[in-house]
Amino acid sequence: MQPSADSLHLGNYLGALTNWVKMQEEFNAYYMIADLHAITVPQDPKVLRDNTRRTAAQYLAAGIDPEKSALFIQSQAPAHAQLAWVMNCITGFGEASRMTQFKDKSQKAGADTASVGLFTYPVLQAADILLYQPKKVPVGEDQKQHLELTRDLAMRFNTRFGQTFTIPEAHILKETAKIFDLQNPTAKMSKSNEPKGTINIMDESSVTAKKIKSAVTDADGEIRFDAENKAGVSNLLGIYSAVSEKSIEALVSELSGKGYGDLKSAVADAVLAVIEPIRDRANELLADEAELDRLLGLGAKRANALAELTLADVYEKIGFIPRK
Ligand code: AMP
Repeated sequence: MQPSADSLHLGNYLGALTNWVKMQEEFNAYYMIADLHAITVPQDPKVLRDNTRRTAAQYLAAGIDPEKSALFIQSQAPAHAQLAWVMNCITGFGEASRMTQFKDKSQKAGADTASVGLFTYPVLQAADILLYQPKKVPVGEDQKQHLELTRDLAMRFNTRFGQTFTIPEAHILKETAKIFDLQNPTAKMSKSNEPKGTINIMDESSVTAKKIKSAVTDADGEIRFDAENKAGVSNLLGIYSAVSEKSIEALVSELSGKGYGDLKSAVADAVLAVIEPIRDRANELLADEAELDRLLGLGAKRANALAELTLADVYEKIGFIPRK
């Protein structure tokens, strides 16, 4: 995930982070804070530094365990930028131009202001993945095209220079919670939406409670799940179900005969019960920067150990002479 906000939102937490925490048990996992990707759009150095530490602190607070997985900052593993250059040189210009994410993002940035870094970021992503020789990469729908590019580049390299990279497969998560905006419940909750509609992990509890209590509902007054006709109420039920780990049916029957005010209070309590301890732990970690940086250093050490092996193999196969 990119360190592009001072707080993760509830969608990041329920849609991505909780799964990553679970995956640590089953896989030898590498989690990266993508600061090289964060500079593909204009950024402020102080904000980038703060957001990088804040993102790391929230991962750790949510349960990413530096003993079980490698949690590291991308720029602390130089092989990412080094392999990206090699991969840039085997990527076709037309091939890179077909990436739909670039089209979307460059349109937002304005064609003249979009950087070359933004254009080649899927190639950096390929390097991010291939350095670790993974069998699987957890991806959402929007990143499938980039994983395809990663696989194409890995196969191309293997064909031209001999077996070097494991060809990774998409690890599609079975049931990923999709969280919608509180004010505009047909749109996904996102950091780029209005703050009123977004539940942030790092917000004060009173702010979170107020946002939930001001969530858009509807006029019929009945608590039931109907995403099409009752998007606001259904989103509140979806959030409630995800944070309480109870089924929507169970919650609907629990709330039968009650009003939207009761629903919102129950959702606010359940959400805060989950996010308050994460926020408080993240703030503790942020108060001890040296310790936080030390933990990230451990992750970087683990990441570099593997990334450097892959890079050395690539450099050798490409025809570069190792430094003596
Ligand atoms: P983003 O920084 O917006 O790309 O989000 C990072 C990850 O968080 C995504 O790849 C999703 O897995 C997850 N995510 C973001 N927004 C939501 C949402 N509204 N509902 C569920 N998951 C989300």
